[in-house]
Amino acid sequence: MTPQPNPDTGAAVKAADRAHVFHSWSAQDLIDPLAVAGAEGSYFWDYDGKRYLDFTSGLVYTNIGYQHPKVVAAVQEQAATMTTFAPAFAIEARSEAARLIAERTPGDLDKIFFTNGGADAVEHAVRMARLHTGRPKVLSAYRSYHGGTQQAINITGDPRRWASDSATGGVVRFWTPFPYRSRFYAENEEQESARALEHLETTIAFEGPGTVAAIILETVPGTAGIMVPPPGYLAGVREICDKYGIVFILDEVMAGFGRTGEWFAADLFGVVPDLLTFAKGVNSGYVPLGGVAISGAIAETFGKRPYPGGLTYSGHPLACAAAVATINVMAEEGVVENARRLGGSVVGPALAELAERHPSVGEVRGVGMFWALELVKNRETREPLVPYNATGEANAPMAAFAAAAKQHGVWPFVNMNRTHVVPPCNVTEAELKEGFAALDAALSVADTYT
Ligand code: PMP
Repeated sequence: MTPQPNPDTGAAVKAADRAHVFHSWSAQDLIDPLAVAGAEGSYFWDYDGKRYLDFTSGLVYTNIGYQHPKVVAAVQEQAATMTTFAPAFAIEARSEAARLIAERTPGDLDKIFFTNGGADAVEHAVRMARLHTGRPKVLSAYRSYHGGTQQAINITGDPRRWASDSATGGVVRFWTPFPYRSRFYAENEEQESARALEHLETTIAFEGPGTVAAIILETVPGTAGIMVPPPGYLAGVREICDKYGIVFILDEVMAGFGRTGEWFAADLFGVVPDLLTFAKGVNSGYVPLGGVAISGAIAETFGKRPYPGGLTYSGHPLACAAAVATINVMAEEGVVENARRLGGSVVGPALAELAERHPSVGEVRGVGMFWALELVKNRETREPLVPYNATGEANAPMAAFAAAAKQHGVWPFVNMNRTHVVPPCNVTEAELKEGFAALDAALSVADTYT
């Protein structure tokens, strides 16, 4: 039953949280988390009854919104019949989830290794690549996020790694295409793509091709800023991997399961990786689940020789039952098509229109239900509205933008100088329009800092 708004309960929830919950990525004394009473579809509400349209999909994972009745029922049914069972057994929910996922992943990624989330999927993908090739190094992008566990944070490029980076672990970072802020002095997307590929190949040459086990990329980088790769880039990386016998890992923890208007973002580019990591949207995050989809060749490496890794809750029946129900809901309700159609016909044009009227918007980019507005002080120089990785006073313009959006009833995704527009993939046109009206008001606040 959904708890009803009640300010007294809200105060008690908040007091216990502040006393005992240690929050991720936060200075514990400086945060003031909202006490949430309930959530349904694209909305959630607090204990005072204030409702927010969730333009974040949680952490970009509730791809079918909150409390979908079919998924809730499937989890309840699984709990009633087999709540849990160890990973070494064949379990209906687990085998059915693996079948449905393998049917949708590109190419011959037909074997599924289940994890509890995205970071451990990345850990295992990297381990598989190292064991498959017998090589030590992994190449990853500066503009990337791959998870909060030790190896995954080492592989990550974004500043969340700084405090935890062991500066070892055989990780070498490189620059990926970003036409708006080109590292390659490129004048168009084709040049950006070609020069980024040349940079990658030079990096491999100087590292020693025989030492590189894997290249890992987010198919469409998410928290790094939703930078849809320019034409030819991912196909070029695929060719480079083939040329040097390097395993190509695409991290689709955020981009997979409908987010880009395709089941997998790799389908946007016609590229098939050797390993694909997923989590989040696989079951809309109703029960923690992630995994690695594995190619035939890599699966064969562990055909006669054991794969030396596993997790107690790998393929947990509750999580897998939620995945089966979620994938079926997505197929039956046309959720992927909804993201593609409304992304192209409503979100793209509406954000372009906001950009025309608001000088704080430097660039609009994205695809499907996966969009970013890059906010700038000055459109000509492209100086970001706040400095890279700003905190406290330096981040005041973005904090003011976020506060204004919330005041107007939209919970925004804010990261550095960007706001991402990442509502559930089954959001309606009316909900989107309500959200854009709030963003319009919030951008007027951002404009005052230009
Ligand atoms: N990879 C990518 C691309 C992600 O966006 C994330 C989470 N934001 C992760 C990995 C880590 O996933 P998790 O938080 O489930 O461990």
